[in-house]
Amino acid sequence: MLSVRNLHAGYGDTEVLQGIDLDVNQGEVVAIIGANGVGKTTLLRTISGLLAPTAGSVTFKGQPIGGMAAHAVVEHGVVMVPEGRRLFQRMSVRRNLEVGAYVGRARPRMAESLREVYDIFPILQERGAQLAGTLSGGQQQMCAIGRGLMALPELLMLDEVSLGLAPIAVKRVYEAVRAIRDRGITLVIVEQNVSQALRVADRAYVIGGGRVVLSGTGRELSNNNDVRRAYLGLG
Ligand code: ATP
Repeated sequence: MLSVRNLHAGYGDTEVLQGIDLDVNQGEVVAIIGANGVGKTTLLRTISGLLAPTAGSVTFKGQPIGGMAAHAVVEHGVVMVPEGRRLFQRMSVRRNLEVGAYVGRARPRMAESLREVYDIFPILQERGAQLAGTLSGGQQQMCAIGRGLMALPELLMLDEVSLGLAPIAVKRVYEAVRAIRDRGITLVIVEQNVSQALRVADRAYVIGGGRVVLSGTGRELSNNNDVRRAYLGLG
């Protein structure tokens, strides 16, 4: 479904991605893991069109999307939920969700999408009229994911969804990730919480030095000694 080949990108003279190769198949949850600052966010930003690649290709469902503008990438069905939630704090939960549907093909289906988001996150319906800034951290994260869903993604990319959340909120967010997968949406998740990511992921890629250094099923990587030592504090 998504295929990334020899992808290079960075900021000014700093090349962060130095030839990334990865594939995501339809219906999978794929986790991207790696040390702080290794370029996981940069990878998602490049796939989303927020950052232009300096070399390499990104193909989605057979169409080249590398280097396209971010809104055009969303129109192709690839949607990113950025780290840090970035909600409109002084707007209601419902308005925040509706804003997510302000892209061409999603707009006419706004009412239907809202029902589906409320189905996955009933708390967002309960809190619909409340200002987003007054939600708990976990609820804000749900609202951010809900807003991403409003754009009708076929591939949803989540950046650090569990960062800074209490364990119970992490659990809820990951229940939602499974519910989203069960609706046929493919997911790419970037996570600091490696054990959590490997539990939900069908497959995972470990990034190091600007490249993929290891890949396998969630289970294979959970049992890999290097991964256990470096990311799981085991071994
Ligand atoms: P983290 O999980 O800590 O966010 P990451 O793996 O997602 O880490 P990136 O955020 O992609 O890493 O950052 C990769 C490198 O690029 C880091 O060294 C970072 O300092 C640098 N970087 C990130 N954003 C910018 C920017 N806008 N301008 C210049 N350098 C940047």
